[in-house]
Amino acid sequence: MRVPIIAGNWKMHTTMYEAEKLVRDMMDVLDKIEGVEKVLCPPFISLAAIGNLLKDSSIKLGAQNMYFEAKGAYTGEISPLMLREWCQFVILGHSERRCYFAETEQMINKKIKSALENDLKPILCVGERLEENEAGRTEEIIAKQINQDLSSIKPTCNMVIAYEPVWAIGTGKAASGEQAAATIKFIRSMLTKLWSEDIAQDLRILYGGSVTSSNIAEFISQPDIDGALVGGASLKAEEFLGIVNQTAIIKGISPSSERYNP
Ligand code: PEP
Repeated sequence: MRVPIIAGNWKMHTTMYEAEKLVRDMMDVLDKIEGVEKVLCPPFISLAAIGNLLKDSSIKLGAQNMYFEAKGAYTGEISPLMLREWCQFVILGHSERRCYFAETEQMINKKIKSALENDLKPILCVGERLEENEAGRTEEIIAKQINQDLSSIKPTCNMVIAYEPVWAIGTGKAASGEQAAATIKFIRSMLTKLWSEDIAQDLRILYGGSVTSSNIAEFISQPDIDGALVGGASLKAEEFLGIVNQTAIIKGISPSSERYNP
């Protein structure tokens, strides 16, 4: 059975003080919601402070990026050795890294290998741009990303894939549940070819792109969608709790009796 995941990508938002406040505002309720893996991905500078706040909780930490080398003269970069003291997950290949920081499939592939070697679970983001979607090239683009990003990686379930259509990120225009599920099914079929049917069935695949507490049900009620990578809505405690709580209910795992009631 695939345990659903809701991961919050805070992007370049929150000072350390604001990050701690956001965690304090939701951690007691979030901690008690069962049956969903809950992951917060704050900016690097807040990881240690939040790691200390969450150390006895069921809430996990993720980073938003990392460099693939373990250490060395790479001014300004963060290594997997630094992250693994605090994090279980690391987001890799986010479209904002691809678009604004020129990350190539080869770099993303090296980062995935390095994360896995260092016991970090990559959350690999893939997704097509608007013009590619409109030209009917979604599967072609996703296939290219998956094949290159996972090239020569040993088959593993210790990672998560997030299907994030670029046109849906931060735009308020989410894909439909059916659209997202169809592409996620395609990703599973690729994993079957690339690795095996067992891994394709066990590996968790999320949807990301303008998810809120008002539309999460549409995605999570699709059997192939195992959760969500949430950007903007993860910066509001009530929104994030609403998303996690609905996921626990819809995926059929009874949530905590102290669950969040908006
Ligand atoms: C993201 O940053 O991965 C994301 C999906 O953002 P948003 O939810 O704001 O669209």
